[in-house]
Amino acid sequence: MRTFIRPVAVALAVLFVSAACGGTGGTTAPSAAAPSAAASAASTQPKFELSTYMYAIQTKGKLRVGTREDNVPFGLKNPQSGKFEGFDIDIARELAKGIFGPVANIDEKIEWVPVVSATRIPTLQDNKADLVIATFTINADRKKQIDFSDVYFSTGQKILVKKTNTSIKGPADMNGKTICAATGSTSIDNIKTAAPQAKTLALDSYPPCLLALQQGTADAVSTDETILFGLVKQDPSTNIVGPYFSEEPYGIGVKKSTGDRTGFVDYINRQLVAMIQDGRWARAYETWVSPVSNDKKKSPDSR
Ligand code: GLU
Repeated sequence: MRTFIRPVAVALAVLFVSAACGGTGGTTAPSAAAPSAAASAASTQPKFELSTYMYAIQTKGKLRVGTREDNVPFGLKNPQSGKFEGFDIDIARELAKGIFGPVANIDEKIEWVPVVSATRIPTLQDNKADLVIATFTINADRKKQIDFSDVYFSTGQKILVKKTNTSIKGPADMNGKTICAATGSTSIDNIKTAAPQAKTLALDSYPPCLLALQQGTADAVSTDETILFGLVKQDPSTNIVGPYFSEEPYGIGVKKSTGDRTGFVDYINRQLVAMIQDGRWARAYETWVSPVSNDKKKSPDSR
């Protein structure tokens, strides 16, 4: 099953209408008196209806983004600079710019909330983040618990082995072997479905799985191909094998609205369409994903 971003033409029409109504852009009328620094900063902010969650975020002054600290090429807290970087991070920064308008350093408007696979849903449900962007596959079970944006990235599950391993060539070969993936990930379930006799080793995130592979406590790591690309970059003595055996469409997670998230998912979807249309999505892909995947993409629709 694959889910696609809504037709671009429809979303662009929505963008046009809302921009004309001052819904997503626009500035306050200039006042006769010289504006204070705070007032002029406020005047560059996009205008939102008072009832919307975007207005609430502007009022709070920060967008709280749940993301990964060790998931190359999507979300990494760079140990040298202490700054967050990656594909998911760039998309989050663009969403923040859409809410706060042009600011010198958009990170001043973002509170990064570290998550691992298993804490993504509780982080939203406990209202510790406004959105979670963290290689988060959209599926029916998760949709019962939280809301998702449209698909902003698409990949599928594969297997990572040591280059010296000749016994695992595809999903069925995982039977009888120990396969590592993150607790609370779709990857663990997909391993069990594809190879019911496989033993799963569930760890917090993927770098510990790579370590388990290197130390021989796991025979393979299995998760989304693009995450495996990041692990191969860290350890070139490993290799990705076999065909895709799942679909992993990523969405941005948002707490289910009880009237407190009005308009937020629709707004995120409009922003994603705009990012694909104006090339920001392709730039983020080229910056973070292309160096590990060796391909280029303009949208999530192809893989
Ligand atoms: N995309 C899959 C998931 O959401 C696996 C990768 C991950 O653990 O983040 O569970």
